[in-house]
Amino acid sequence: MGEKCLAVYPGVFDPPTLGHLDIIRRALAVFDELIVAVAVNPGKAPLWTAAERQAMLREATADLDRVSVDTYEGLTVDHVRRRGARAILRGIRTMSDYDYESHLAGTNRAASGIETVFVIADGRYAYITSSLVKEVARLGGDVSAMVPPAVLEAIKKKLP
Ligand code: ADP
Repeated sequence: MGEKCLAVYPGVFDPPTLGHLDIIRRALAVFDELIVAVAVNPGKAPLWTAAERQAMLREATADLDRVSVDTYEGLTVDHVRRRGARAILRGIRTMSDYDYESHLAGTNRAASGIETVFVIADGRYAYITSSLVKEVARLGGDVSAMVPPAVLEAIKKKLP
């Protein structure tokens, strides 16, 4: 029997959406275990703290026993190495995701040799972005089709 194949799914997750969760569930068909890694200092000012984003992801993945959620500061590849993972997992929605992600994957591979594995967004979720969710919620719109129930509650508290 070989070692378990572990991947890290890094991101800001401000907040986590049904698009993120679809990538997580589908990646479990490929990887034995997944660590969802919340970036603490993404260079954007997140609406939720890293601990809050971690808690939302934990609640939304509570039924998935091969998924854990942690937080990290600094370079993604350092975190991947620290956790002993084989690959980085990322999702692709659009051509502009593809452009950005291909630069990022190339940079990470040049720096560390670590490969990035992509899962293409499901058509039902490909339009969802965390910033769109925040924008609609701020304007009082209904985001229940875009986020899991745990996140909907957190949004109601943060943006009443
Ligand atoms: P980052 O700023 O690191 O891209 P995000 O939380 O916005 O953080 O996204 C994390 C990962 O999830 C990225 O690979 C992104 O392309 C992917 N992703 C975001 N939204 C969706 C979605 N609706 N469907 C599929 N993948 C998505």
